Amino acid sequence: ERYLASIGDQRYLNIYVEVFADEALDRAREQDGRRRAGAKLGRLAGIVLSIKDVICYAGHGVSAGSAMLEDFVSPYTATALQRLLDEDAIVIGRTNCDEFAMGSGNENSHYGPTRNAADPARVPGGSSGGAAVSVQANTCLMAVGSSTGGSVRQPASFCGLYGFKPTYGRISRYGLIAYGSSFDQIGLLARDPTDIALGLELMAGADNFDATAPNRPVPLYSKATSEGPKRIAYFADILKNEKVDGVIRQTTESALKELRDAGHTVEPVTFDYFDYVVPTYYVLTTAEASSNLSRYDGMRYGYRSAEAETLEETYKQSRSEGFGTEVQRRILLGTFVLSSGYYDAFYGKAQRARRVIQEQLRGILADYDFILMPVSPSQPWPVGEQIDDPVANYLADIYTVLANLAGLPAIAIPAGNDPEDHLPVGYQLMADLWQEEELLSFVCRTK
Ligand code: GLN
Repeated sequence: ERYLASIGDQRYLNIYVEVFADEALDRAREQDGRRRAGAKLGRLAGIVLSIKDVICYAGHGVSAGSAMLEDFVSPYTATALQRLLDEDAIVIGRTNCDEFAMGSGNENSHYGPTRNAADPARVPGGSSGGAAVSVQANTCLMAVGSSTGGSVRQPASFCGLYGFKPTYGRISRYGLIAYGSSFDQIGLLARDPTDIALGLELMAGADNFDATAPNRPVPLYSKATSEGPKRIAYFADILKNEKVDGVIRQTTESALKELRDAGHTVEPVTFDYFDYVVPTYYVLTTAEASSNLSRYDGMRYGYRSAEAETLEETYKQSRSEGFGTEVQRRILLGTFVLSSGYYDAFYGKAQRARRVIQEQLRGILADYDFILMPVSPSQPWPVGEQIDDPVANYLADIYTVLANLAGLPAIAIPAGNDPEDHLPVGYQLMADLWQEEELLSFVCRTK
């Protein structure tokens, strides 16, 4: 009831696409009844979560922030969500996001922008912007989001939270609406990393419905402890980069100093490919998106243009009217880079670049436990300021897309507020593939 009141008081933040108020209350009361009767409850009994509007929940709407799916009701539940529900989690609603998770400011949603609770004139980050503000504004305890190139860490950092994306494949993608399938992962946003560790423990692991979620044992992340000094690498070039906001450089430097003072080894390393990171990411993800989004054809499901008369017109008009500007831009880009004659020059080359980027990062992580770096080069910008400059938005993804290109686990860590404008600041830690136990237990130890 307190969370629902909090949602009611903060409608101006535009956090939720839909609130499941009655259902959440019924579930809470039903659990209370079972508790009074002495029954054993699940590990998430009484825990209220929000889900990003890209996660399928049987019998509930899911729109990916798009007019294309505005009236769509999911016939099935995402595996990761089902595992949380089986432990008695209560889902309070579905959160606003950039359309099909394409964006960095939550400004590309069919439902309008979500606002940062620290300063409602500014963006909360994206694409899981509603997810971040749902926790920041105290409307739930933890948010389930998704990351293709930073959509969990960046909004978490813009809103003063922890935001975690696991190794690619750690959590089943079954029931997560696809953007770039070889990048997409479900992630979590919360005030405390121990909550994230528990959530991951419950969601992770093999799934017959997702061949990319391998059958590896799932460690008890919530019980893991971290001991001894660690080896932490950082990119010295970033700290000299004028394009990185001053407060972000200072935050990164003081995080490094604190760790050094605490006895950890902290050393600079070089990474040669920063110039190629954003182009590689946008070639590959737009290619995958153009393929994934071809299913929205106005025939099978989703929006259908009322004007169209022939099959060809149905395809064209439904897609032209149903998709927003950014999604159309990416479908066009992706179709271009996959087209014959250009495939090798763009798509093939980007795949090779991805491999080279991954190898260099994993080479560093063979010598170090973690890499520490900023989440974003800039702080939350005013709503509307960058809307006509997609390239500015793309470039701001430089530090988050690395982990998704390489499939690595990474977590954004809040580090207080900018003393001048009081906006939250953070940094991130990245670890080698499947090292989320090390990463989360270290973050829990040093929080
Ligand atoms: N900002 C990036 C993009 O627009 C990442 C989004 C995401 O992780 N879903 O593609």
